[in-house]
Amino acid sequence: MNIFEKIIDKQIPAQIIYEDDYALAFHDIDPQAPIHILVIPKKKGIKGLQEVDGETMVHMTTAIQNVAKAMGLDESGYRVITNNGDDAGQEVPHLHFHVLGGTRLGHIHHRDDTHKSL
Ligand code: 5GP
Repeated sequence: MNIFEKIIDKQIPAQIIYEDDYALAFHDIDPQAPIHILVIPKKKGIKGLQEVDGETMVHMTTAIQNVAKAMGLDESGYRVITNNGDDAGQEVPHLHFHVLGGTRLGHIHHRDDTHKSL
């Protein structure tokens, strides 16, 4: 089981800020912005965006919107990132969406010289 599946099973702790029938959201352990939340499907075995089914994505969209509201980002704005596979620097093989906000975020679209994958 990977680390996020263990968080789903409550085998290891996380600072959970949102939960519904399909999704779980918690603070990233190494935040890259004042607010950095990870939103994941509760369904196991979905490695990344390439593997996810449409129905799960609908639920993920709802969860991200609810997380943004819960964290007060829906008005100020936020960024959503999902890393897929080695070239994107994906570390945990369970689909997750980084929700970043709480400050004016820099433009990072073309960065490839950084250790961090965000
Ligand atoms: P990736 O690089 O796979 O897109 O992102 C994985 C993210 O998971 C990283 O931002 C990392 O800080 C976060 N992370 C890794 N292990 C843990 C953990 O045990 N708890 C929490 N809350 N976040 C974690």
